[in-house]
Amino acid sequence: MKLTTLHTNSQGTIGRLVALAVCAALSVGALVVPASAQRGGGVNRRVVAQAESYTGDTFNYFTETPRGAHVVARTRPRVEWLRAIDQGLTDLFAVARRHGYSARLNYSDYVIFIARPDRTRDSTGAYSPDVAYVAPGYRGSIYDQGGYIYAAGMTFSYEPNALVVAEHDRDFQRMANVVHYEGEHIVFYHNDRQLFQQTADHSRGGGHPILQ
Ligand SMILES: [Zn+2]
Repeated sequence: MKLTTLHTNSQGTIGRLVALAVCAALSVGALVVPASAQRGGGVNRRVVAQAESYTGDTFNYFTETPRGAHVVARTRPRVEWLRAIDQGLTDLFAVARRHGYSARLNYSDYVIFIARPDRTRDSTGAYSPDVAYVAPGYRGSIYDQGGYIYAAGMTFSYEPNALVVAEHDRDFQRMANVVHYEGEHIVFYHNDRQLFQQTADHSRGGGHPILQ
């Protein structure tokens, strides 16, 4: 079973970021990709193809943050985005260490996709760059927009670790928070599988941060 985690910011403020997760019936068998399938910065093609499928974007720009996280974007990322990613991962690693976790706490363990937002304001009018994802698991939920949901971020691969966040033109702290929050699922997956299972699906509630 493969898990796809989606977070929506339906309330419009990061402080009330509502976390969502979808368990999709996708195979996890082909998660190890041969090196020959890699491109740009060691990011493998399967993960790029997945991200393009989920977002509808074409990703052509590969780089790394100053601390070494892999970044994939449509165009050259703003320096604020790279800083936000490093900040989000720094926050994530700090709280993870406080809880005794040690696996996958390196910047280079993460691939962050920066996608074009499908909306920049939520239903309340607040700045909220979110990506629309097809999410059958949320049909009928309060987040359902008719077969898709708007999400602030999405975690979709755990080997390698990959997540999506939307391009921001301001409120880069929100961007950092999304990376931090999405990363919680990845940290749990590799350090505490029971907690991962308990928190992966928030379609009926639950939010982030999970660890304080
Ligand atoms: Zn979540």
